[in-house]
Amino acid sequence: MIVMVIERHLCPKCHGMKITRHPLWDKFWAASKVGTVAELQTFMADNGAANVVAEAMPCRTCNGTGHDDREISLSEALAKLEEVHGCKGLG
Ligand SMILES: [Zn+2]
Repeated sequence: MIVMVIERHLCPKCHGMKITRHPLWDKFWAASKVGTVAELQTFMADNGAANVVAEAMPCRTCNGTGHDDREISLSEALAKLEEVHGCKGLG
C-alpha cells in the first residue's frame, strides 16, 4: 500500500495572494508613463477590450487558491522532513 499526502507550497506566481494583475494591465503599465484614464481607455480599446478590464484577476497558475499542491508518497514526505528538519519520521 502506498499512502499519498499533499505537499503544499505557496503559488509561485501570486505568492499566496490568490490574485494577479490582468495581462492587459501589465502591458499598459509597461507602455504608459502617466496612466491617465483617457490613455487607459484608448489602450484597452486598441487591445480589443470593450471596456476597461479589472486590474486584479484570480491567479491562473493556482486557480485562485494561493497555493500549489502536489501529491507525494508518505515515504517521500518523511524523507523531506528528515532532510529539512532533521527529524526521523513521526515515531
Ligand atoms: Zn497563484
